[in-house]
Amino acid sequence: MSTPPYDCILIGQGLAGTALAWRLHWRGFRVLVVDREPPVTASRVAAGLLTPITGKRLATFPDWDLFWPEAVRFYRRVESETGSEFFHQRPAIRSFASEEERDLFDRRLDPALRSFVRPADPPLREDWFDDTWGAIEMPEAGRLEVTGYLDASRRVFLSVGAYRNATIDPERDIEPDDNAVRIPSLGVQGRWLVFCQGYDPGSLSRWFSPVRFNPAKGEILTVRVPGLQEPRVIHRGVWLAPAGEGQFRVGATYVWDRLDCEPTETGREELCRKLAEFLKLPFETVGQAAAVRPTMHDFQPVLGLHPLHRRIGIFNGLGSRGSLLAPRLARLMSELLVGGAPLSPEIDVRRWYA
Ligand SMILES: Cc1cc2nc3c(=O)[nH]c(=O)nc-3n(C[C@H](O)[C@H](O)[C@H](O)COP(=O)(O)OP(=O)(O)OC[C@H]3O[C@@H](n4cnc5c(N)ncnc54)[C@H](O)[C@@H]3O)c2cc1C
Repeated sequence: MSTPPYDCILIGQGLAGTALAWRLHWRGFRVLVVDREPPVTASRVAAGLLTPITGKRLATFPDWDLFWPEAVRFYRRVESETGSEFFHQRPAIRSFASEEERDLFDRRLDPALRSFVRPADPPLREDWFDDTWGAIEMPEAGRLEVTGYLDASRRVFLSVGAYRNATIDPERDIEPDDNAVRIPSLGVQGRWLVFCQGYDPGSLSRWFSPVRFNPAKGEILTVRVPGLQEPRVIHRGVWLAPAGEGQFRVGATYVWDRLDCEPTETGREELCRKLAEFLKLPFETVGQAAAVRPTMHDFQPVLGLHPLHRRIGIFNGLGSRGSLLAPRLARLMSELLVGGAPLSPEIDVRRWYA
């Protein structure tokens, strides 16, 4: 990554833009990342959890065996290149919330689900947690300290002149032609420009107008739990994730209206109530944050190049799984830009134009 003209300009340095910047850099592209640095973004609010099983119905992530090893390799490589530690591989616990949930698990014999779990070892401590219906452990799980990862990446990008703090108006600031895309307000141009803006209602309007968001607001708490020393993330209706220095994060809510980044009393009460259903220790709320997950209408990520303006691309729709999805999808996007490798139709933005 060095001086202009760039091979690729990325608008947005969340989980999407950061992963794509690394992937392109490793392939020898000169990259410029531009971000407006608002105080709150989805990536900076996210707990960064990676787990193969989610939700009440114990849904398994279908391509876990593809995405998980690639995410591990990717974050380890970025750790080594930034000299920072932010990725923690550690089993996560799924504690059953009711007899019905336990029965559902006992009846489900599908090999995928079984391959992701084993008995919790050590079991949950009964003086800390309600364990009435038992718990299982997911040995393959991880937690990305997202802010640490984004900040460490940004420092490296800055040090090689590959990062700018600016707000880009997609309607007015972008001038593409057959060979390049210019941003006159920044005095830069790239062979490609990729929008990695997360949820931003205006972001799709001019260049990707057929693409539709179905975003979900989420809230998350930071709590202090004196005496609790459980290093594993516990999932039971909500999750409780260690955050260091005696603090834990608790999340997350899902709301499909009021799509703003304002924490609410309702969100706090819901998270506290669900936490108290399984945590026996007293806790104190010391922080609260909210942001909007960039989920698309068809619940699939969206990446690729504009069908007409082939110099303009998009990388978005990471929904509630940005930490797991970004490393592999960024590689696929980089292979499209560097070598023209086609994307599969279910993730290619061109599906929205069919
Ligand atoms: C409460 C909550 C909990 C979550 N927990 C998890 C979790 O445990 N695990 C997980 O994997 N995922 C989680 N997620 C989902 C995760 O946050 C998203 O998948 C991910 O952050 C999306 O990343 P992104 O880069 O697409 O978007 P963003 O994080 O929104 O990044 C977009 C970036 O683009 C910049 N930008 C936008 N427009 C412009 C512009 N015009 N000019 C310049 N810059 C611009 C913004 O400043 C921002 O930095 C959670 C989300 C929420 C809300």
